[in-house]
Formats: sequence, C-alpha cells, structure tokens
Amino acid sequence: MGARSGNNFLSAIRKLGAEVWIGGARAGDPTVHPAFVHCARSLASLYDLQMEAPEAMTYKTEDGDRAGLSFIQPRGAEDVRKRSRMFRRWAEFSGGMMGRSPDYLNASIAAMAAAHEFFAASDPRFGANIVNYYREARKHDWCATHTLLNPRASRAAGWAGQTDADLALRLVDRQADGVVVNGCRMLATLGPLSEELLVFPSTVLKQEPAAEPFALAFAINCNAKGLRFICRDSFDSGRSHFDAPLASRFEEMDCVVIFDNVVVPWERVFICGDVARANALYADTGAVVNMMHQVVVKNAVKSEFMLGLAARIAQVSDAMSLPHVRERLAEMIIAMETMRACLRAAEADAAPDRWGEWMPARPPLDTARNLFPRVYPRLAEIIQLNSSSSLMAAPADADFASPLLPDLERYLATAGALARDRVALYRLAWDAVGSSFGGRQTLYERFFFGDPVRMASALVDNTDLKPLVARIDEFLKRPD
Ligand SMILES: Cc1cc2nc3c(=O)[nH]c(=O)nc-3n(C[C@H](O)[C@H](O)[C@H](O)COP(=O)(O)OP(=O)(O)OC[C@H]3O[C@@H](n4cnc5c(N)ncnc54)[C@H](O)[C@@H]3O)c2cc1C
Repeated sequence: MGARSGNNFLSAIRKLGAEVWIGGARAGDPTVHPAFVHCARSLASLYDLQMEAPEAMTYKTEDGDRAGLSFIQPRGAEDVRKRSRMFRRWAEFSGGMMGRSPDYLNASIAAMAAAHEFFAASDPRFGANIVNYYREARKHDWCATHTLLNPRASRAAGWAGQTDADLALRLVDRQADGVVVNGCRMLATLGPLSEELLVFPSTVLKQEPAAEPFALAFAINCNAKGLRFICRDSFDSGRSHFDAPLASRFEEMDCVVIFDNVVVPWERVFICGDVARANALYADTGAVVNMMHQVVVKNAVKSEFMLGLAARIAQVSDAMSLPHVRERLAEMIIAMETMRACLRAAEADAAPDRWGEWMPARPPLDTARNLFPRVYPRLAEIIQLNSSSSLMAAPADADFASPLLPDLERYLATAGALARDRVALYRLAWDAVGSSFGGRQTLYERFFFGDPVRMASALVDNTDLKPLVARIDEFLKRPD
C-alpha cells in the first residue's frame, strides 16, 4: 500500500480495539471518544497531506509503492533534506504542538532497519525481524508510539532490575510462539491512537546476568492480549476551536502501559536478554540521530510558532516599541535562529554512517536537543510576561454570541485588534502557555527526550574533548 490517507488511519484505529482506559472505564472506539476524537482527526489530516502533496511527502520504494518520506533510508544528502522538508510540513500543521506525530518513530525504525547487522550480531533472526518490521510498518504506514522507561519506586535505585524488579517490564518466559513479558512502562504518548507500540531499552542496564530479563526491544500490536493503556485526564474538554485552539485539535494523551503476561511473537523481537546490545542500541544504530532530526525540525517550527504568537501579541497590545518587549522578542528570535542554525549545520554536514545510511551530523542536533528543554520554558514564560492579565480577560465563544456582545466589543478592543480577534489571540496564547494543554507542552519539552541531566552527560561523552585538552596542555608548555 505505502503512504495512507486519513480515512485509512481512522478506520484502522476504529477496528483495532486496544484496551484503553480513561476515567475508570474502557474507552471504546477512540475515533469517536471525546478525549481522543479531535487528535484523531488531526492525525488523519497529517496522513491526508501525503495524499495531497505526494511529491513533497512521499518517495518511491524498491517495492514500487509510494511511502511516507519519514520512512526513507537516505542514500544522499538530498534525501536527508527531503525528509526534513516533509518533517517540517507535518510540524507546521500543529505549530510543533504534536510531539508524537508518526514521523518521529518512522525515522527511528528506518535507522534500526538499516543497522540490521547490529541486531543480527545478537541473533540472526533479530536482524531479519527488524528489516521485515520496517518494511511492514512502511507498507501499512502504521502509527506507532514507544515506551522506554520502567517505573521506579525509588529514584536512588540505579537500574530497573535492582530494587524495582517486580515493577519493571521484564521477560518472564520464552515459548515456541514468542516471549512472554510482564510489568509496566511509562509513558506512551499517543497510546490510544497508535496501532503499534515499540518497546525499546530504557536507561542503561548494569552489565550482569540479573539485568538480562530487562534487556528487551520489541514491537507489539496495541491490541495484543494483556496490553493495557491507562490514560491521564484528557486536556481536550470539548471546547470550540475559538475557546481552546490547541487542545481542541492536538491533545495527544499520555498513558501508563501495563503488560499483563503479553506474548510477543518471535518475529517482532529485536533484542532479548543481550544487555550490551540493549545499552548500545540507540547510539550504535543511528536511531537516536534520526529521532533528533525530526525533533529539531519540529522544535524549529515550534519556536517560530511561539515567536509569531509573541509578535502578534506585541502588535495587538501596541507594545512593539517597549524596550523590554523588544528585548524579550529578541531572546525568542535568538532561540529560533539557534534551532534553525543547528538544523542547517546538521543537514549541511550529513554523511553516511557505518550502516550506509546518510545521517545528519549528530553534534548540532545534540546541541539543539540539549538546549530546547532549557529554552522552551522561557519562550512560554515570555508569552506570559508580555500578555499578563490579557490571558485572563478572555471571555468564551458563547459570550460573543450573547447579549454581552456590545460590552465585549467596546471594552476588549485594542489599538491593534477588534475585541473578538484580540480574545481569540490571547486564548491561543493561554492554550500554548497556561492551560493544562500548555502546561503539558512545557513539561513535554523539558523531559520527553529524557532526563536533561543525563542527556547533558551523554553529550559530554559524545564530544571528543581530547584535542581541545591537548591544545590547553600545549599552550601551558609554550616557552614564550
Ligand atoms: C509529557 C511527557 C510525555 C512523555 N512521553 C513519553 C513517551 O511517549 N515514551 C516514553 O518512553 N517516555 C515518555 N516520556 C517520559 C520521558 O522519557 C521521561 O520523562 C524522561 O526520560 C525523564 O524520566 P523521569 O520522568 O522518570 O524523570 P526522573 O528520571 O525521575 O527525573 C526527574 C528529575 O529528577 C532528577 N533526578 C533523577 N534521578 C536523579 C538522581 N539519581 N540524582 C539526582 N537527580 C536525579 C532528574 O534530573 C530530573 O530533573 C514522557 C514524558 C513527558 C513529561
């Protein structure tokens, strides 16, 4: 089949019947459930973009299909850029507010399949499995999410298997038809609207036999028996697009995932019991670089969206000439340009990796992914600082259709906008930086790619400091 339409996606989710719980009850069909329906439609629109602009959004595979460009295994720098433009088009649809659009994991699966020898070194079947899985995912254009973290009762405990062995997801049996896994993972964003769940290694495991049951990488259908998604409250409370412009469209949902003795068919197992390979998976396969590529495109778009929002607020409130507003806008411009520059540098320095796939350069992407969790909360803060009480002087759609209209039109208009336009703008700002949807956006950007402290530590490990240190030593030895 290849690249799918929105209708194809919706009908697949409708038929899936995954065990999704929300507010103490089974959710039923997520494509009509009020908590998920609008995000389902947004995802469908993303898929429809592939139908509307096939040249920009898809590529021809070796099977003769046209597949979504996020699945491409780049054979040159232009392929990397083509994929980037495709990422951008999807990110622009939501202003970067959908973190788990399917391109994020498609690119990751593509990198892992290109690195099939990495998996085959553990077991030849696993090498074939990841290639076949990639081809199937691309053929059906599956929507996937992933879950990496084991729950921890104590943050002091070093790794999954030590004190929290009975909480963490672990291998409990190997059978003829597959492996049996039990335990819990958190979180899976977009769980209720995903067909596939990718379960990949969590934080680094200790290299010892006791860690082997936790060294797992596999894919499972979201409707597998014993697999349970437990949702938080939905931030889409059924308001209009005027009232909640972002939550009424892009509420992705986050879930805790329970594995109650789930059987994972052997053909979907990529790592089982190999601690060294589980620990090396992300770095050695290039999956993390491809994920970073999607994320940095998304974050460039998101910083553009936030800057555009702040600039419009400055115009509407006639504050564009105020020095502190200008200083804050400059801060946002610097953030945006830094994201763009990192992206451009990464794409300009793209090169083949050891598996033959062309990759954007890692250091600029790593820089951007370490910076954004620090920068994004400040972008949100600037919008709060520049908006102040206007974020609260924001009557609802219904008020504009009530006898209050003359009052609203008189008192809420500004030098730069009619009352309704002003309120629409500030409601958008509130949804971006203050509502439960907006609060989650900030939390997401702080953490979704991992604990910032450990990410920073990985950046130190991945940076070649030796020549720099040598230069200092040489300088100290200079005779004059
Ligand atoms: C909105 C959202 C969506 C997400 N979606 C997904 C998803 O779809 N899939 C997925 O796999 N994951 C997802 N995540 C989880 C994400 O991977 C984790 O939040 C991230 O890895 C950090 O782990 P943690 O939340 O357990 O935080 P912790 O590791 O508990 O860290 C919390 C804080 O404590 C500090 N800390 C932790 N341990 C120590 C220590 N020993 N010493 C000192 N300080 C410490 C950290 O630096 C951090 O500041 C999501 C997270 C969020 C917020």
